[in-house]
This record gives sequence, structure tokens and C-alpha cells, in this order.
Amino acid sequence: MPANKPITIVGGGLAGLTLGIGLRQRAVPVTVWEAGHYPRHRVCGEFISGKGQGTLRRLGLSELLARAGAIPARTTAFFSPQKGSPVRELSEPAVSISRYALDALLAEQFRQSGGELREDERWRGAEIFEGVVRASGRRAQPAVNGWRWFGLKAHARRVELAADLEMHLSPSGYLGMSRLKDGEVNVCGLFRRRAANAQGDFSDGETRPPKEGEAKERPVDGRGRWQEILRGAPGSRWHERLAGAEFDEDSFCSVAGLSLEPHRAGASKECCVGDTITMIAPVTGNGMSMAFESAEMAMEPLAEYSGGKISWGEAQRAIARRCDEAFARRLAWAAWLQRLMFLPRAQNALVLLAPRWLWLWKLLLERTR
Ligand SMILES: Cc1cc2nc3c(=O)[nH]c(=O)nc-3n(C[C@H](O)[C@H](O)[C@H](O)COP(=O)(O)OP(=O)(O)OC[C@H]3O[C@@H](n4cnc5c(N)ncnc54)[C@H](O)[C@@H]3O)c2cc1C
Repeated sequence: MPANKPITIVGGGLAGLTLGIGLRQRAVPVTVWEAGHYPRHRVCGEFISGKGQGTLRRLGLSELLARAGAIPARTTAFFSPQKGSPVRELSEPAVSISRYALDALLAEQFRQSGGELREDERWRGAEIFEGVVRASGRRAQPAVNGWRWFGLKAHARRVELAADLEMHLSPSGYLGMSRLKDGEVNVCGLFRRRAANAQGDFSDGETRPPKEGEAKERPVDGRGRWQEILRGAPGSRWHERLAGAEFDEDSFCSVAGLSLEPHRAGASKECCVGDTITMIAPVTGNGMSMAFESAEMAMEPLAEYSGGKISWGEAQRAIARRCDEAFARRLAWAAWLQRLMFLPRAQNALVLLAPRWLWLWKLLLERTR
């Protein structure tokens, strides 16, 4: 019997590590290159919602997550600057877990399953060739239609929430606050600035917009404006909620140059999973799920390639087709919802109507995951 061909995965985030674990379960030799190290904080709402929870169960990871501090999230409430919705139950409970714990747990699982993890090693090759899967996360884009998008996140204490997840909307961005274990709350927002005004004002320490292809995500010191941005406009419900918040400054991180335009996996020359294919609007809380799902959809075709049953091109096309079939509709709905989130009138309507009109609430939940 010829030996299985090896697979290299560029990027040890959720998609790369999940794929690595699944391939190891199928006896495929796997190396993951990760430019950063574990544990580390990531800009993320830390709210896992959607079909990706099934992937975690099938890979035998759900129990491990629970032991690492994952807690169920069952309720949510929405707020615009003027209005607040009632607390509404999610049709399927989500899971809240710190990325600090989650990424480290997956990295450990991957290692234990016999995978080679090259931590703190950046893949430098511009071209991705046979046997290499790109899972290197979102592709940076300095501005989209004149807007610069950036994300901020920090953990906080002394925040009383009405629901497991609160979403607060404003004309310049939206913020999720989700309950984590031991009374901590994750505070994470997506913001935008006019590209012409954006330089240096999106997070502490930033002095220039990122260059094409450069994603920024790093802890910075706590002296700058990030707390001011995360605390929201004085007088808003969002600001009130965080009035007594004590932020854990070590957990702060930021990312800039985000693009929320949907892309098809089939349009890429590379074999991709996770955010590298495309990034779904964070308001859906479905990006991590898509990372897990796309990793799962890649496992069989890559195992068949590794075993010599199909060619690399066939594996790549099968993965892209599966991902596009699964994600096209949800990406279209998410892009539409994302646009509404930034129209002040639509914000009030969404906050008032979606949780009250059960059919609309169910439709939005179902179509965006
Ligand atoms: C503001 C905001 C809020 C969000 N909130 C939520 C939420 O509540 N729920 C949800 O489900 N999703 C949320 N998301 C989305 C979620 O964080 C992503 O969808 C998810 O992290 C994608 O996983 P990934 O593995 O594809 O990418 P990543 O987790 O970004 O991992 C990519 C990895 O590749 C590494 N890498 C990059 N280039 C190289 C290289 N050349 N060589 C080696 N390594 C490399 C990086 O260091 C990184 O570790 C949010 C996103 C943002 C921006």
C-alpha cells in the first residue's frame, strides 16, 4: 500500500485546526503552519451559532469545549440608540467560549492526534500548490466603497446583561456583549469610518491603514481610544450598559482592513477553507460555524486525494462546490442584513420588529446560518 500523501495547511485558526484534526482522524499526515502562537486573544464575538456545532460534535470536540469553559447561550436582545427589544429565545442554543481557550484547545487536540504544528512560523510562499490548503483567515482590504472597517474586542467584568447575548446598534458600528464563564463578558464590535478620516483612529497604536494583503490583529497598550470606542456614545443604552465595566486590558485586540463582500470558493485558484473563502457579516454570529463547516466539507475530498483516489484538482473542485452550495444563500442574506444594520431607520425597525414578529425573527435566524 503506498503511504498517504501529506497535506499542508496554512493557518492554525479555527478552520485550519479543525481540518487538521479531521484529517488526522482519517490517518492523513498533516502539517499546520501558524504565524502566531497559542493561547492568544482574537477579535471575535465568541458566540458560536449554527451548523458548525454539529461539526464539533461529530469530531468529538463538544465535550472538550465544555470542559474548557464553553457555556450555552440561549437568549438575545437588541438595542438601537433609542429602542430596546424584548429578550428573545434562540431557536437553537449557541455556545459562548473565549477564543483564548478555544484556539489553544484545538491546537492541543491537533498535536495530540499526531499532527505537526509549526507555531510562530509564517508561510511565505505567495503561491499555493498541490497538497496545500489555505486557512489563513480573512483577506485584508484597506477600504470598501469608501469605508474602512475595523473590529475591536476586550473582555470585561461588572457588566450586567439582560440576555446571554446583547446586540447594540449605532450608525458607526455594532457591538455584541456575550456572557462568558465566571462572570466575564466579551465586548466586541464592528465599526466603520470614512476611508479619508480613518487613519490612526480605529485603535490604539495604529498610525497607518494596513497595506493590501496585510491583516492586523495584535494586542496594544491600553492608553488609547479603544475603550472610548467600545463604550459607545454617551446617552445610549450601549454606553449605560458599560458604565461600570472593568476591562481586562490584556485581552484587548483589534483588526482592520475587513471586507464583508461575499466571495465564492469556486472563484479562487487556491484550495481554501474558513474566512479565506469569504467572511460573513459578524452580526450573524456564524463565521466560526462556517470555519468548522468548511473544514468538515474539505475532509473527505482531501482524504481521498491523500489516499490516491482522486486528483488534487478534483479534491479542490469538490470542496469549493460543497462550500458554495452550503453558503451562497446565507451569505446573500447576511450581506443584506449587514447593510440594514447601518441605516438608522432600519436599525429601529429591526430592533422593534424582528424580536416581536416571530416569523421575521425565525426567518432571519434560519436564513443567516
Ligand atoms: C468584529 C468581529 C466579530 C466576530 N464575531 C463572531 C461571532 O460572534 N461568532 C462567529 O461565529 N464569528 C465571529 N466572527 C468571525 C470569526 O472570528 C471568523 O469567522 C473565524 O475566526 C474564522 O476562522 P478562520 O480559521 O477562517 O480564520 P482565523 O481564525 O482568522 O485564523 C487564521 C489563522 O491563519 C494565520 N495565518 C495567516 N496568514 C498566515 C501565514 N501566511 N502563515 C501562517 N499562518 C498564517 C493567522 O495567524 C490565524 O491564526 C467575528 C469577526 C469579527 C471581525
